[in-house]
Amino acid sequence: MTWAIELDGLTKSFRGKMAVENLSLNVEAGSILGFLGQNGAGKTTTIKMMLGLLRPDSGGGRILGKSITGESLQVLRKVGYVAEVQQMYGYMSVNEILNFSRQFYSRWNSALIKRYLDFFSLPSKEKIKNLSKGMKTQLALILAMAHEPEVLVLDEPSSGLDPINRQEFLRIILDEISLQGKTVFLSSHQLHDVERVADKVAFINQGRLLDVRSMDNLKTTVKKIRVVFQREPGSSLFSQPGITEVSREGSAYLIAVEENLEGILAEIKKYPYFTLDIIDQNLEEIFIEKVRGDRHE
Ligand code: ATP
Repeated sequence: MTWAIELDGLTKSFRGKMAVENLSLNVEAGSILGFLGQNGAGKTTTIKMMLGLLRPDSGGGRILGKSITGESLQVLRKVGYVAEVQQMYGYMSVNEILNFSRQFYSRWNSALIKRYLDFFSLPSKEKIKNLSKGMKTQLALILAMAHEPEVLVLDEPSSGLDPINRQEFLRIILDEISLQGKTVFLSSHQLHDVERVADKVAFINQGRLLDVRSMDNLKTTVKKIRVVFQREPGSSLFSQPGITEVSREGSAYLIAVEENLEGILAEIKKYPYFTLDIIDQNLEEIFIEKVRGDRHE
């Protein structure tokens, strides 16, 4: 397997408060990783360390084989980055910033730029300071893609975009980027969006990586089982590996399962029951369970 991004033990604290702790994570080349966490979980800090914009206290990593601590300029040349907060030269026009940025890269796809300026109806003569938040995000995406990077790092890219533009943004990620075998590291609170595009998701909470799973694996193994038994089962039933939470809903048991679904179902079915339903979980429900489960530990 070829890794586009390899992070190894990244750690960063600010004034003694841990922001990211010993975070190790690999992203396969050509895949889309969704990076999920609550506000303040450590996503932006991780991304900034990845791109050499913030020095880790310890740990390191590689992007496309280049060290994120020792070769950060080479890393930045190979990566397209859409920051959470767009800091662009407000006095420049759209055209001016495109021409200004062009000088830093050996590759520059003018046809792609034109296509997306037209597509988003961005006024190329307008000053950046006069653009709306969403328009600035669209421009940031164009700037990030213009030099045809192999890796795209997007920190909350769809914040500020209206629903129609968010859909278009997702389509671009899928069409332009992933179909060309590029790697996307996508931090987002829009879990429905992540669910649609990501191959894998990584959950971060309070600076620690909780879990990394393929979307397929999450969708097929993370479920809730709702069962009404004919008589009370032994409590040992609920201590099986893979069960994360058991609650009551009237006469029903609601059993949250993270893995080992088949094994757990086989055990449950040994007890006579009236009804048994397997309930699919969407990414938002899975995310909330994960964070809640981590808090209880
Ligand atoms: P959000 O989803 O709200 O953008 P995030 O997951 O990106 O959050 P970070 O911005 O990485 O979170 O912040 C992680 C923690 O580090 C937070 O507690 C934050 O207050 C702290 N932090 C981040 N940057 C700094 C800084 N420059 N100085 C001090 N503390 C910081």
